[in-house]
Amino acid sequence: MNIPNSPQSKPPLDAFTRARLAMVERLRKAGIRNERVLTAMSEIPRHLFITEALRSTAYGDHALPIAHDQTISQPFIVAKETELLEVTDKDRVLEIGAGSGYQTAVLAKVAGRIYAIERIPQLARDSAALLASLKLFNATIKCFDGTIGWSEFAPYQGILVAAGSPEIPQPLLNQLAVGGHLVIPVGTEKDQRLMRVKRTATGFKTEDHGRCQFVKLIGKYGWK
Ligand code: SAH
Repeated sequence: MNIPNSPQSKPPLDAFTRARLAMVERLRKAGIRNERVLTAMSEIPRHLFITEALRSTAYGDHALPIAHDQTISQPFIVAKETELLEVTDKDRVLEIGAGSGYQTAVLAKVAGRIYAIERIPQLARDSAALLASLKLFNATIKCFDGTIGWSEFAPYQGILVAAGSPEIPQPLLNQLAVGGHLVIPVGTEKDQRLMRVKRTATGFKTEDHGRCQFVKLIGKYGWK
């Protein structure tokens, strides 16, 4: 018998949920401070963004392969990039490189409206379908070259790039709102720095947030 409010009436946490909460505690210990980012990552079922054979490893702090030789970014870097955006639930965010859609889903919990771009058609289709099944209706994923940005909805308070670029694409700087942040890995194929650019009333201020490694940003203003 199930008595309301008795200990028995609470279903035990499943293994994925326990692993997810442990992941969030590790992120906290690793220095992620933004509670809204941590809450979002405690809610989004990361294992659903990964092929079934790898699901048991979904909550470890590593990148994992997804289709078409791409990767789902490691939880720490997803948290770090999202935190660096400093966006609120009123803000519009542009994401380049939606891939599995995991980062997009986290952004959908943290910001107001997400416009995400993915250059590989099948990834764009699958991630859009997964987001809809999770009822994250404030995110739109389209397939085209994200290095040109998405001028229709600019300016953006946050722009997050999830692939490494040899330099910062000029269109993304143009589409950044005054006071907004662009977070992007910049460097060679093997050695990149996570850069944050803030647009001020008079120009751009750039900060270096350390080493990182992403797959290539391929497009007109990225790798050829
Ligand atoms: N945030 C994603 C990361 C995927 S890897 C996740 O966690 O799953 C980076 C993605 O960027 C790849 O899917 C790749 O196809 C995509 N990409 C590379 N160049 C791009 C471009 N110019 N425009 C849009 N997407 C691009």
